[in-house]
Amino acid sequence: MIRIEKLNKSYTLGHHALHVLRDIDLLVEKGELVAITGSSGSGKSTLLNILGVLDDYDSGSYFLGDTLVKNLSETRAAQVRNRQIGFVFQSFNLLPFKTAAENVALPLFYQGVSRKKRDALAHALLDRVGLLDWAKHLPAEMSGGQKQRVAIARALITTPTVLLADEPTGALDSKTSAAIMDLLMDVNADGVTVVIVTHEAAVAARTKRIIRLKDGVIEAEVAGAAEEPRGPAR
Ligand code: ADP
Ligand code: MG
Repeated sequence: MIRIEKLNKSYTLGHHALHVLRDIDLLVEKGELVAITGSSGSGKSTLLNILGVLDDYDSGSYFLGDTLVKNLSETRAAQVRNRQIGFVFQSFNLLPFKTAAENVALPLFYQGVSRKKRDALAHALLDRVGLLDWAKHLPAEMSGGQKQRVAIARALITTPTVLLADEPTGALDSKTSAAIMDLLMDVNADGVTVVIVTHEAAVAARTKRIIRLKDGVIEAEVAGAAEEPRGPAR
């Protein structure tokens, strides 16, 4: 699904170049659930943004399915994102003056889908994340966990093949984090490839693969604890 070879990325700061990702090789199969961990500044968000076609890179290659994602025009990049990618952020990034249902429906608005169809799908997705009763509420009326559920519903409304989440539980308490992880694991069980950037060991441990970045290099890769099915006692 995701195939990255010898990928490098630098940022230019004045006359200096900051080499943020160094010769990254990464293969993520369709349907995998993967965590990317590493300390602050190690390049996690930069890598995820490249995976999400939100940012470009300098050298190497990135294939998303059969598509070589490199030097795409903004139109083409948007097309790849709309068709294949769902993105979830730590800070939810909901529009404050739109209701939950309107926020969820927004990606379809940009695709030119009719209001009636947008509305029906948004409600179905809100139901999927357990928030159907909250459809008419504004983000400010919702808890952090609820806002993140809305954000996940919004990411899923375009039926992406890959869901990318950058510190999705970073602003949540541990109980709410666990519930959001339950939801992300359900989404993965439905066949969506999921890549989660996280600081938290408890979050990473529930994935099948943990990739540790250090100073822009993949330092280690370990198996998570999620090989066995999830039981009520865990
Ligand atoms: P992480 O998500 O692991 O904390 P980031 O990918 O955000 O790390 O950042 C990696 C490095 O790149 C950091 O040193 C950061 O300061 C730098 N960086 C990130 N984004 C930019 C940018 N747009 N311009 C310049 N430097 C950046
Ligand atoms: Mg980051």
